[in-house]
Amino acid sequence: MTKEYDVVVIGSGPAGYVAAIRCAQLGFNTACVEKWLNKDNKTVYGGTCLNIGCIPSKALLDSSHKFIEAQKHFSAHGISVGKVAMDVPAMISRKDTVVDQLTSGIKGLFTANKVAGIAGTAKVVGNNKVVVTDSDGSKEELAAKHIIIAAGSVPIDIPPTPIDQDTIVDSTGALEFQEVPKRLGVIGAGVIGLELGSVWARLGSKVTVLEALDDFLPVVDRQIAKEAIKILSKQGLNIKMGSRVTGSKLGKGTKKTITVEYTDRDGEQKETFDKLIVAVGRRPFTESLLDESVGVELDEGGFIKVDDQCATNIPSIFAIGDVVRGPMLAHKAMEEGVMVAERLADKKTQVNYDLVPSVIYTHPEIAWVGQNEEELKSKGIECNIGVFPFLANGRALAANDTEGMVKLIADAKTDRILGCHIIGASAADLLQQMVIAMEFSASAEDIGLTMFSHPALSEAVHEAALAANGHAIHIGNRKRRS
Ligand code: FAD
Ligand code: AMP
Repeated sequence: MTKEYDVVVIGSGPAGYVAAIRCAQLGFNTACVEKWLNKDNKTVYGGTCLNIGCIPSKALLDSSHKFIEAQKHFSAHGISVGKVAMDVPAMISRKDTVVDQLTSGIKGLFTANKVAGIAGTAKVVGNNKVVVTDSDGSKEELAAKHIIIAAGSVPIDIPPTPIDQDTIVDSTGALEFQEVPKRLGVIGAGVIGLELGSVWARLGSKVTVLEALDDFLPVVDRQIAKEAIKILSKQGLNIKMGSRVTGSKLGKGTKKTITVEYTDRDGEQKETFDKLIVAVGRRPFTESLLDESVGVELDEGGFIKVDDQCATNIPSIFAIGDVVRGPMLAHKAMEEGVMVAERLADKKTQVNYDLVPSVIYTHPEIAWVGQNEEELKSKGIECNIGVFPFLANGRALAANDTEGMVKLIADAKTDRILGCHIIGASAADLLQQMVIAMEFSASAEDIGLTMFSHPALSEAVHEAALAANGHAIHIGNRKRRS
């Protein structure tokens, strides 16, 4: 028998679960189909983000940060703790507990909001029809006035280093190591490579990051990226830019090793590791998802083609999150989920794609929103730039966490803030006030006239705004025109 719904959502990652909950809140009879099974073969909601992405990676980043604090930084506060040791299985098990708590939380939210969670793999077989195949092979047909596809993404696999999830792992395998690899290779100096490389470097791995590009973090403001590579290198990440991996050979013996071949400007090179993380990006996941007869269009990158309101070329079908264009970020996915739900309810909402914040959760964190200095220069937009280092911030000094800076860029004619770029402790949280300010078209002067609590890291944002107009208080003025 066909079950009928107003909305069927495919996938329960941040795009899908948020869309499903918002649809249900708006009065739609909603189902959310999820194929993810945990180690016990039970359906789990939450997708990449909760199971193998944002949350578990941050759990390990937090554990390893506490380790390094105890090992290296407590003594500056007069605290001696003797020999600091890390029980890796205990750290991994804590991470699993956090994941379980959050994924069970989604199940609870579905129940509370009356979203029907359906286990199995969904295929769109008609403009208003979805077939779900359960893990035992049984099939169920769902009819839906609207279908929202939120099937997410998976890691990219490159031929030179085939993943075996033992010696050569992707980001998922890198969250499961049971001991600290002595020599760890990471392919890709992107967000995921740097975060996971940092976790294991803090715990004692000798980490080498191989990156094909010559420019470190090309999407990041150059001044911030330069500071980032300096700090991360000091922490022990050996980041080799301009190094393209071309092949690999697994060593023989009980404790396998992996020898990676790469080319750099000096020619062909080799390096041997105990584990290798391949972090070369992610691709949209649309396998067995769309029956050809439906005619949902994909773009050349394999993403489902959508307009700026996430509508596909089929009027009853929408697509959101990593499976469509734009940055592969959980918060962007969630906002698209809300937008589509509200559009279905005839509300006029829109995601502001110009103000998607980005964060790299290394320590210090790297966070930015809006345009960077190079982008603005290339467009010929004249700007005032205010930079304030955390070294001159009282709270950062009190916490002994003074690396980094806030860089605020404002339009030279209108003073409107066009970008904010931060490297520093709690950069993600500090950035958020600028995301709000920019959403309200604030000027650097507006931020300068706002009162900030003292002492707080956020004062660095205040000072950067003042500096953009040439009158920071706690630093010699370095207003810069670009
Ligand atoms: P996903 O989370 O991938 O969810 C898609 C879901 O759809 C999955 O559960 C999948 O099983 C299900 N599905 C797919 N096809 C079907 C089908 N046919 N039938 C039924 N179910 C199906 N982003 C951030 O913003 N901040 C971070 O700190 C961050 N850290 C990350 C760290 C790592 C290691 C990784 C890998 C990613 C990280 N991301 C981070 C990215 C973030 O996880 C993704 O952007 C986000 O999960 C995308 O959400 P989504 O709902 O589009 O897709
Ligand atoms: P991101 O897309 O941010 O996850 O980053 C992935 C990084 O991996 C990019 O900076 C790519 O340049 C890099 N990359 C992809 N393929 C290779 C390769 N074969 N060798 C080294 N780096 C690579």
